[in-house]
Amino acid sequence: MTAKNYVLGLDIGTTSAKAVLFQKNGLVIAENENAYPVYHPNPSWVEQDPYEIEQAAIAAISDAVQKSGIDKNEILCVGISSAMHSLICMNHEHEPISPSITWADGRSVEQAARVKETVGESLYLKTGTPIHPMSPLCKLIWMKETNYSAYHQSAKFISIKEFLIQRWFHKYMVDYAVASASGLFNIHTFEWEEEALSAAGITRDQLSEPVPSTTICQGLTSELANQFHLPHDIPFVIGSSDGPLANLGIGAIDPGDVAITIGTSGAIRQMASKPQTDELQEIFCYGVTKDLWIMGGPTNNGGIVFQWLKDVLGETEVQRALETNNSAYDLLTNLAKSVKPGADGLLFLPFLNGERAPYWDANARGSFIGLTLAHKKQHMIRAGLEGVIFSLYSIGETLERLAGLPATIFASGGFARSPLWLQILSDIFGQEVRVPASHQSSAWGAAWFGMYALGEVPSLSAIKESIPMNNTYIPNNTNHMNYQELYQTYRELYFALKPHFKALAAIQRNEQK
Ligand code: ADP
Repeated sequence: MTAKNYVLGLDIGTTSAKAVLFQKNGLVIAENENAYPVYHPNPSWVEQDPYEIEQAAIAAISDAVQKSGIDKNEILCVGISSAMHSLICMNHEHEPISPSITWADGRSVEQAARVKETVGESLYLKTGTPIHPMSPLCKLIWMKETNYSAYHQSAKFISIKEFLIQRWFHKYMVDYAVASASGLFNIHTFEWEEEALSAAGITRDQLSEPVPSTTICQGLTSELANQFHLPHDIPFVIGSSDGPLANLGIGAIDPGDVAITIGTSGAIRQMASKPQTDELQEIFCYGVTKDLWIMGGPTNNGGIVFQWLKDVLGETEVQRALETNNSAYDLLTNLAKSVKPGADGLLFLPFLNGERAPYWDANARGSFIGLTLAHKKQHMIRAGLEGVIFSLYSIGETLERLAGLPATIFASGGFARSPLWLQILSDIFGQEVRVPASHQSSAWGAAWFGMYALGEVPSLSAIKESIPMNNTYIPNNTNHMNYQELYQTYRELYFALKPHFKALAAIQRNEQK
């Protein structure tokens, strides 16, 4: 054990870099967040500038350290978390020759659909990555088929975290979880998967070396160390991707522990002691360590649904919130509270943004089902909040099929500001829901991995003792039974409406032309 008392977590998110300085017991000392722009050169393309992300990350760390006022020599290490599925082409001079193409990029829709119908099942069972435009595999096939010039000149294909490691330590290394999410990595052998490489038309030496999350990089130049406001020999621990680190940072690591995050999008995730996939291809399964995997499903329709309800139905509340210095979400939640659980038989399918898990259908669309003259705005708000949770519950059913019943649910993300939404979660799942005090779970997970790598803590699961918790929500059995009845209808609706969603999506695309 060293005498150093602090540890940094760096979280490279979809829209910002966050640096959080923790005391070794998990207490947040200082944090800093720096946003970076997202570019849309075509309507479905979502790109970022790797150098802008690098600058934001350095500034986030430097500002957090300076803001804390502590001596930089007191910081043990930096653990890194990053969003998954980004892809950057690098030339032989180690310079990016493409932007960072993010998970949200939809350019490879056609390629993904074709791969899914041909070799999709075989690739999914080996890589655990659902065949979807989000994955670097599908993006690479798009590059190959459209003669994307950087694809042909590329010495390496890497993610944003690999870019940062290369810039700071001059090595091409990738942790298992980030590698897993590329769609190119075999989650059974922990090696790049030949069948996927051949589909993408690339070779193994064009990818980084897969390494454990505890891998340490050291030796910043003094110029870089000054920019970071860190000592030049501070260890950077490579860490993992934001999903497993959020589970770790929230304490959801044992069998039966399920993490549910609802920010703008959402996800339900669970750790597993062996790789779990099946031919239904509904969930992801990524390697984390050689004896730990993470499985789960992402939804495109989390808090963004509430945001849409606020924008479309909440004009009065937005105005009142401005006048009274309140949150419009809180005012709308209060309104929803006046309606009974189940919104008097009104259901909402939340697929406003297409859907990933469990249907993986970009054509899925939102709908209110069951409207009568008796339904009012408050019913629609409540049905919207319930619809988001029903959607996560349907992914949870798939997880349950593979991993067994959940025992405890750990909740995080913007939705956790609403006690009503948390109670709905507890009632629909019929499970206890626990909410940690800090929102920075991925950064805490990354910092913990750092301490684990340096022998400061005995195990990953020991983190459970260092997560201050807020409230616990207990399910109401009557509400749970009512929701179970409604869910029987909810689960049929997507399949009943699927052909109609497809037809409407085609009309909508034509209208946009
Ligand atoms: P991001 O995923 O972009 O980091 P957050 O985790 O901050 O976003 O979550 C944003 C979402 O949280 C919003 O879209 C909204 O649905 C929800 N939210 C924010 N404040 C509240 C609130 N007071 N009550 C309920 N939901 C809220």
